Amino acid sequence: MSERFNQISPSEFFYRNRDLAGFSNPTRSLYTAVREFVENSLDACDQNGILPDVKLTIKPINPDSADPRLYRLTVSDNGPGIESAHVPLAFGTVLYGSKFGLKQARGMFGLGATMAILYGQITANKPVTVSSSTDGQTSDDFEILLDIQKNKPIIQRHAISETASRGLEVGIVLLGDYSKAGVKIRDYVYQTSLITPYATISFDDPKDNVYRYKRILDEMPKPPTLINPHPHGVDVETIRRMVAESVPQIPPLADTSELFAALRFRNHTAKLDTILAKAKAKHTWKRIGQQNRLMISLMAALQRTPKDMADIRIDEIDMASEQIHYYDLRQGKAHSAEIPDMDPFRSHLRSIYAGEMLQTFLTGRFQRVGARTAERFSEFAGFKPEKRMGTMTNQDLVRLSDSLQRYGDFISPDPSCLAPLGPEPLEKGLQKFFEPDFLSVVQRSASAYSGFPFVVEMGIAYGGNIQSRGIKAYRFANRIPLLYDEGSDVVLKVIHDIDWSRYKVKQDAPLVVASHICSTRIPYKTVGKENVADRPEIERELKLALQYLARRLSGYMSKRGKAEAAKKRANLYAKYMPLISQFCTELAGYEKEPQYTALFKADTMEKK
Ligand code: ADP
Ligand code: MG
Repeated sequence: MSERFNQISPSEFFYRNRDLAGFSNPTRSLYTAVREFVENSLDACDQNGILPDVKLTIKPINPDSADPRLYRLTVSDNGPGIESAHVPLAFGTVLYGSKFGLKQARGMFGLGATMAILYGQITANKPVTVSSSTDGQTSDDFEILLDIQKNKPIIQRHAISETASRGLEVGIVLLGDYSKAGVKIRDYVYQTSLITPYATISFDDPKDNVYRYKRILDEMPKPPTLINPHPHGVDVETIRRMVAESVPQIPPLADTSELFAALRFRNHTAKLDTILAKAKAKHTWKRIGQQNRLMISLMAALQRTPKDMADIRIDEIDMASEQIHYYDLRQGKAHSAEIPDMDPFRSHLRSIYAGEMLQTFLTGRFQRVGARTAERFSEFAGFKPEKRMGTMTNQDLVRLSDSLQRYGDFISPDPSCLAPLGPEPLEKGLQKFFEPDFLSVVQRSASAYSGFPFVVEMGIAYGGNIQSRGIKAYRFANRIPLLYDEGSDVVLKVIHDIDWSRYKVKQDAPLVVASHICSTRIPYKTVGKENVADRPEIERELKLALQYLARRLSGYMSKRGKAEAAKKRANLYAKYMPLISQFCTELAGYEKEPQYTALFKADTMEKK
């Protein structure tokens, strides 16, 4: 019996493995869907320098039903919107997105929104509705279904309407359980506004309660810039793609009649040898132009007349093995031909398809690699700096990639692709939310793991309006609050590893630790983006940040301890002094008591 082979589409894959992305049950799915849409809105505003205004609403379709039930979830923003042509692709295709470059963003795979839409579609069988306005005057209104098998959008409705505001609104119907997810969703909105103090976020819940967090800052943190990868941050596959990018595409072959005209042949029946001989002549070769030079070089390599070339599609010009891979349309067969040692044809192909030199490749396509580093590295890896990238064999590429990992003298990664919040906004956020007695924040300088730069920011708050007892950790990564799977997270590990008694912090102290990790690639443990793996470099930075803050806190605690002792003393004096004074006055037989109240002034007490 023969087996049938099939390939599944990316949407089919995620449809079958939806719990991977956080869509495992109605509770978790409602929460994850909220997150994905809110994060898209914030990303879009951040990347365009717009102070975000995000509105979230969740309403039951049928108010009399019980959980789990169908909800309509809507998120709207004042961001840039999406060009009409891209809307169906962005929301109707899994793995389609604009955030694949090396710079910090909340979204990662072009997966989030589409997964939520997919989940909505399979639980409620309703299309996603999207209204997008890029100019604030007209809006493109869509209803889109996803063809899961083909990973393609099906546009059910597209209309254009008038609008008064720019931005995007997206709505889905999905099976959710708000009675269980509500706590997490409210917490998510609350914590998001804490780590995004320049955003106004409102949440209209199923019972018509409105939670509104107004922005407390009118200035946005500096946006990140897009940069080249660090040599430690690429693998063989990435290098292969970079090489492919550096070698020009093979253009569609020119019409051969142009070639005849350029060669000044009157009739088109000349033999191949005659044609080649004529083209070779220096004065001819020089004037016939790029397109014709390529055409004739290919003819020479494949030993084909112009007429035969019409049936050929060139797939690859591989200068590593000096071969041309092509497809004969008439035969329906793939072939390879060796490039013969025949100049100027061979050297012409070489000059174009051997790609750039290793030296140029290193300095031009990686961050922070200068000419000298490139030279030294080339020697380390055993390549000539002039080696052409297109001539690297598979083995060469593996060696190159391996050497890039091992070479220890690259400058550490460039953090300009990161957008930490900054110490002041973080401090303002924590101040507003907790009004603590003590507050301190720190931003560590940039560090890196496996070629990915990261920055750790942290704040510690004590007392005041903090209601919780014991250490409460707020974890953020790229301005996303992380609420699930706390148990296995690196931040909690670091918090637990610290001996708090050394810093005079009691077990039930009203203490908040907020940590924010920014990176072009947060090492999440799952696609659901909930907990961060314990990379030693990240753990170290977290630990140093926390120790610094704990020392500051401990300083405050001992000052406070002294102040409390002084106050106690003062109270004691205040209680007994009048009695002593009265007693002494009587004993001495005086009429008037002495001026003892001056002694109660706190500063006099403290000095004693
Ligand atoms: P990701 O966020 O991982 O890139 P998504 O599936 O969530 O993937 O979104 C797909 C793409 O749609 C995004 O990369 C972005 O370009 C675009 N997009 C999504 N939401 C918005 C929005 N609110 N405003 C502007 N563009 C958006
Ligand atoms: Mg997203």
